[in-house]
Amino acid sequence: MFIVAHPVTLIPGDGIGPEVADATVLALEATGIEIEWDRVELNAELIGRAGQVLPPHVLESLESTRTGLKGPVATPIAGGFPSVNVALRKKLDLYANVRPVRGLPGLKTRFDDVKIDMIIFRENTEDLYSGLEHEVVKDVVTSLKVITRTASLRIAHQAFRYAKTNGRHKVAAVHKANIMKLADGLFLRCCREVAELYPEIEYKELIVDNAAMQLVVRPETFDILLLPNLYGDIVSDLAAGLVGGLGVAPGANIGERHAVFEAVHGSAPDIAGKGLANPTALMLSAAMMLIHLKEPKAAERLTAAIEAVYAGREHLTGDVGGTAGTAEFTSAVVAHLRR
Ligand code: ATP
Repeated sequence: MFIVAHPVTLIPGDGIGPEVADATVLALEATGIEIEWDRVELNAELIGRAGQVLPPHVLESLESTRTGLKGPVATPIAGGFPSVNVALRKKLDLYANVRPVRGLPGLKTRFDDVKIDMIIFRENTEDLYSGLEHEVVKDVVTSLKVITRTASLRIAHQAFRYAKTNGRHKVAAVHKANIMKLADGLFLRCCREVAELYPEIEYKELIVDNAAMQLVVRPETFDILLLPNLYGDIVSDLAAGLVGGLGVAPGANIGERHAVFEAVHGSAPDIAGKGLANPTALMLSAAMMLIHLKEPKAAERLTAAIEAVYAGREHLTGDVGGTAGTAEFTSAVVAHLRR
């Protein structure tokens, strides 16, 4: 039989990005799925040289493959060039940021005794990430929070559609509409409008500060969370902490035409180049990519191999309580896949 390879753009990125990307490519190879990689460099140094956040070679590749697997790209803090991650999501209109939060077998956390299994749907293109900031007069700055009906409706549709097709039961919209009555008020109205189309899904609303507390006290009660961009970003890291930290938190950025899969974590400069990074988050993001590429069996096998290594506890990286490095963990996953 003639097998067609899936074209995918690989963006290793900065910091630990190349280490976790190489590890993930090895795991994907071991699934037996044919992928035709287009490897494109995108990092702080290259952006500095090119003088633009999204050099054309990156967009051209993603235009042609429509699917990306991406490592983190570092963003300078309080100055420098704007976030590449935000620019890419806006440029390709990757409006839905989907982040599953699930415990792994054998992984010790403070929440061992409860089953955590939630999915975060974060709006990915607007809110305070519009980057519209302005110094009105010296020492007085405004930052615009943009919320539109179009963007709010489509992320809400995405969350409810996912809930319905995947047998999920509850959606919680997270907001601060008691203070930002217009902006978060519009977001909430859109969520309610979509919720009415899905009477079989239980819908509730939580103010973001209360949601943060409930997530720590009763994480097992959450199913699908639906949030505007900024709350989604913050709540994602909080939720990652519930199940073992950033090393195990995968994600996907989905649009109408393109999809880019990337871990929740950043470039982790403190451990970059030391062979210590945990590639689990990008490997689980790659499993989401396999589902997107209509290879669900390979996705299941990759996830099962990662879970088996966690259950064995022998080859885990330092961030999740083990002593192994990136290479040892990766070899263990590959060995399981080849078994
Ligand atoms: P960004 O601002 O780019 O989102 P961040 O503030 O979320 O980045 P990270 O770079 O993700 O920060 O790192 C936060 C902490 O988590 C660091 O101490 C880092 O070493 C650790 N960390 C992040 N990812 C991993 C990983 N894959 N393996 C091990 N440790 C990690």
